[in-house]
Amino acid sequence: MLKLTKSLGQSFTITNLAGLRALNRSYAATNVKEGAQLNPDEPIDMPNPFEKDPEQCILCKHDITPYYKNVKLLSQFQSPYTGRIYGRHITGLCKQKQEDVEQAIKRAQRCLLMPGYHKDLEFLHDPKLFDPERPSRPHKY
Ligand SMILES: [Zn+2]
Repeated sequence: MLKLTKSLGQSFTITNLAGLRALNRSYAATNVKEGAQLNPDEPIDMPNPFEKDPEQCILCKHDITPYYKNVKLLSQFQSPYTGRIYGRHITGLCKQKQEDVEQAIKRAQRCLLMPGYHKDLEFLHDPKLFDPERPSRPHKY
């Protein structure tokens, strides 16, 4: 049993080394510096190929700050049937922007720029920023 694990361990190290050498070779082929001596057995610094891009909400991506006079934008976050402000699980906004949007909508409604119980008819055919029918978690309505 001991022999088996020992041989298994060795085979793993051998395959790891072979993989590293292949990586080293491909890396050296792409980044050849003149005069630099590259030891093929040394570990190399390379960017993580599995790293994901940081996720950004649609308002952060375009660097938009919700403003209460921007009624055309704010009405996108309002249900056309009930005038309800969509939640984060539907809009996909980050927490800060969602709070900003809700605050701006409430302010616009207090200033009578936006209706409270329905969506303004002229904004009904605006392109949708998100799909209210497919939220990230289920809802009752
Ligand atoms: Zn954001």
